[in-house]
Amino acid sequence: MRLLALSDIHSNLTALDEVLRDAGSWDMALCLGDIVGYGPDPGECISRVRMHGFRCIAGNHDAAVVSGETWGFNPYAAAAVHINRRLLSLDAIRWLERLPKSLSLEVEGVRIALYHGSPRDPLNEYIFPHDAYIYADRLLEMAGADLLLLGHTHVPYLIEVDDRRLANPGSVGQPRDGDPRASYMLIEVEEGEVSIHHRRVEYDIDEVAERMRQLGLPEFLASRLYYGY
Ligand code: ZN
Repeated sequence: MRLLALSDIHSNLTALDEVLRDAGSWDMALCLGDIVGYGPDPGECISRVRMHGFRCIAGNHDAAVVSGETWGFNPYAAAAVHINRRLLSLDAIRWLERLPKSLSLEVEGVRIALYHGSPRDPLNEYIFPHDAYIYADRLLEMAGADLLLLGHTHVPYLIEVDDRRLANPGSVGQPRDGDPRASYMLIEVEEGEVSIHHRRVEYDIDEVAERMRQLGLPEFLASRLYYGY
């Protein structure tokens, strides 16, 4: 089984399409939330993940776009939530609303759990690499998983604890680890053996930033794409 795992697309269709091209073929596609928010193409990104049959969970930006409630968001993120919300059809918003906050599945005997934030706080807790290293064992235990996949921080990592793994594929549409290329992971499961490949893909940032400006999205959100931070 070949699994495509990605997170935090954030309405960046250009980056998503490059990732899908780079990934080639897969048996199962997983999306760890924040399909929308920040970027210019929320509706098109939802259509892509639906079209490709992604197994998706909700992120904090998906929930905010559904409710229109941006308490706790910084002003740039909040402005983008409201613009994204106006760009979406009712059908797309209803689809976002139905997304679960977590998913558990089993692939060839490997128990896989998905959360946007963490098992303790599925939508909002940030597990950055430092905490991930310290608490990997406890988080895997809490999730009851051999492979725990988290998103939300936009910072990729892969931590192995015995034969279990805690991973964050990074962000497709707004990386924040200093590398502006789209980030995702390919996971091979063969006879219960797991191997994970982290991949980075270039995309046309100029084109995305330009459309963000045309839509009135905050300049800060457009320019940060160039730094990957
Ligand atoms: Zn995010």
